[in-house]
Amino acid sequence: MSRLTVARIDLEALKRNYQRARTLAGPGQAMAVVKADGYGHGIEAVAGALAPYASRFAVACIEEAVAIRGCGHRQTVALLQGAHEPGDLAICQQEGFEPVLHNHQQVSWLADDRAPAFWIKVNTGMNRLGFRPEELPAVMAGLEDSGRRPQALGFVTHFACADDLDSDMTGLQTRLFEDAVAPWPALMRSVGNSAAHFRPEQPLYEWSRPGIMLYGGSPMLDKTGPELGLSPVMTLQAPLITTRVVRAGESVGYGASWTAEQDTRMGMVAIGYGDGYPRHAGTGTPAAVGGRRIRLIGRVSMDMLAVDLSNAPDAREGDMVELWGSTVSVDEVATCAGTIGYELLTGVTSRVPRVHE
Ligand SMILES: *Cc1c(COP(=O)(O)O)cnc(C)c1O
Repeated sequence: MSRLTVARIDLEALKRNYQRARTLAGPGQAMAVVKADGYGHGIEAVAGALAPYASRFAVACIEEAVAIRGCGHRQTVALLQGAHEPGDLAICQQEGFEPVLHNHQQVSWLADDRAPAFWIKVNTGMNRLGFRPEELPAVMAGLEDSGRRPQALGFVTHFACADDLDSDMTGLQTRLFEDAVAPWPALMRSVGNSAAHFRPEQPLYEWSRPGIMLYGGSPMLDKTGPELGLSPVMTLQAPLITTRVVRAGESVGYGASWTAEQDTRMGMVAIGYGDGYPRHAGTGTPAAVGGRRIRLIGRVSMDMLAVDLSNAPDAREGDMVELWGSTVSVDEVATCAGTIGYELLTGVTSRVPRVHE
């Protein structure tokens, strides 16, 4: 009945990657970032697998935190975008969600009687969200006056260039952050997306925030997840629904963008951009069948794509093709498509069932 196109999710690999993050976080702890439906892997299954190990989760918005509670997990959940309306704070207080407050308006909402514990976002150069270091004394004095100071858990900042070992921006942001929060040594500090875990000598303080590395994707420029010792969690696979020989001079697919130079055995695979496979992945993008690497040819369509089977002479109709997984890393496909693994993993559409194993 089904089309067989599926995203297999290896929850043991997820746990291994989380343990790796904990090890790299040294004496600190690691809050598991499970936003965007667990980076496309299914938040229920991801939160369930990590719940015995992670004592804090982090998500972007309150709906995602509510989904974690819906599965019965009682961990605290940091809300990386803070609150979106004043009423969110009462929900946070009741449910044990910890908003990361990033502007004066959000701080003013704490005046309500039911205010939660919260984090304060410091802008050290990313310039998306947060208070500038020089604003912190006034913010903290305001919290003291309003009686909310005891509910402040700590400070958060986010790096702009941690993926690039040649950039000195992370060092600058780290020093700015350390100096900015030094007057409040009893409060916790949270820096460190996945990339920061792979930077030698980078302090991660009390709480790091690994996301993509938990899913086996690379946070670093020019390195794949497996090259960093991470285990791929998602295997995206789809069946070969036909095989044939295209003759020399014949083209394949929309735009006739690929033409066979010699007679070539090819296959059609039942997956396309309607499933979240990137249309920008052109001829030469790797895939695999039976553990052998093959390559895409021509343009990706909505529901199917073409592969050159020259390197897999035994491949037959019905065989499953790996679009990314343990033979071909999602990072390689992302590079071919001019994007990053994050976008591919979070972009797998709801047409593709997630099978957790
Ligand atoms: C998404 C996010 C993270 C996790 O980033 P990765 O690169 O996926 O590890 C950490 N902190 C903040 C503030 C985020 O928005």
